[in-house]
Amino acid sequence: MLTQPILPAPPERVSVLGLPLHLSPDYAQWWRSRPQAGTHIITLNAEMAMLAERTPELAQILHRADLIVPDGAGVIFYLRLRRKKQRRCPGIELAAQLIEELGRDPQPRTLVFFGAAPGVADTAAQRWRSRFPRLTIHAQHGYLNPQEQGDFAQQLAQWQPDLILVGLGVPRQEYWITQHRHYCPHATWIGIGGSFDIWAGTKQRAPRWLRENHLEWLYRLYQEPWRWRRMLVLPHFAWRSLWP
Ligand code: UDP
Repeated sequence: MLTQPILPAPPERVSVLGLPLHLSPDYAQWWRSRPQAGTHIITLNAEMAMLAERTPELAQILHRADLIVPDGAGVIFYLRLRRKKQRRCPGIELAAQLIEELGRDPQPRTLVFFGAAPGVADTAAQRWRSRFPRLTIHAQHGYLNPQEQGDFAQQLAQWQPDLILVGLGVPRQEYWITQHRHYCPHATWIGIGGSFDIWAGTKQRAPRWLRENHLEWLYRLYQEPWRWRRMLVLPHFAWRSLWP
C-alpha cells in the first residue's frame, strides 16, 4: 500500500494590525515540506507593518505572500499582548538556515544573492561558498540601471535558482520580488534587507545580549542614526498594539 508523506500542517495564521503573520516553532521545517513549490517569505517588523497600513500595494503583497515570519521586537510584543507565544525569526537567521539546508543537500543547488553595494554580495557569496563548496551562488549588486535589470531578469530565468535572497531594503525588495517571481516560479524568494552587509563584514549585527533583550533596533539606530526618522513609527505601533 502506498503511503502519503505526512506534511507538517501549515503554520497557524494570525493578524497583526490586519496583516497576516504565521506562527511556528520551526519555519524551516514547513519550508522543507514543500520543495520547488515557489515560495515568497516576508519578514515582518513593526516598521513594515506601519508602512503597509498606509501603502495598499505593500499590504496586498503581504496578503499574497506564502509565509510571513515575525522579524522584530515590536511584532513579538504585539503577539505577547494577545497571549501568543512565538520566538523572533530574524530574516538573516532564517536565510542562513535555508542556505545551510541547501548546502548540505546531496543535490547541487543554486542560489542568487541580489542587492547591496558593488562587491558586498560577492564577498558574502564567497564566504558561504567556502563553507559549502557544492553550492553555486550567483551574486549581483543592487544598483542596476533599467537595461541591466532586464539582463539580470533573463539570467534568473536561465539559472532557475532554488533560493533567491534580495537585499534591497523594505519595501523595494518586496516590490522587486513581486515583479520578478514569474521568472523562477519554483524558487524561494526572501527579502533580507542589509544581511549581505553583515555576512560580508561591512556592517555589524547587534551583540547577542542586545538581540536577546529585544534591543537590536537600538543598536541599529546607534550604527545608522539616519534611521531615527523611519523609527518614529515604532511608538505609534506600540500604541496601536495596546488596542484590540
Ligand atoms: N540597496 C540596494 N539597492 C538600492 C537601495 C538599497 O541594493 O537601490 C541595499 C543597501 O545597499 C543595503 C540594503 O539595500 O545593503 C538595505 O539595507 P537595510 O538594512 O537598510 O534594509 P531594511 O532596514 O530596509 O531591511
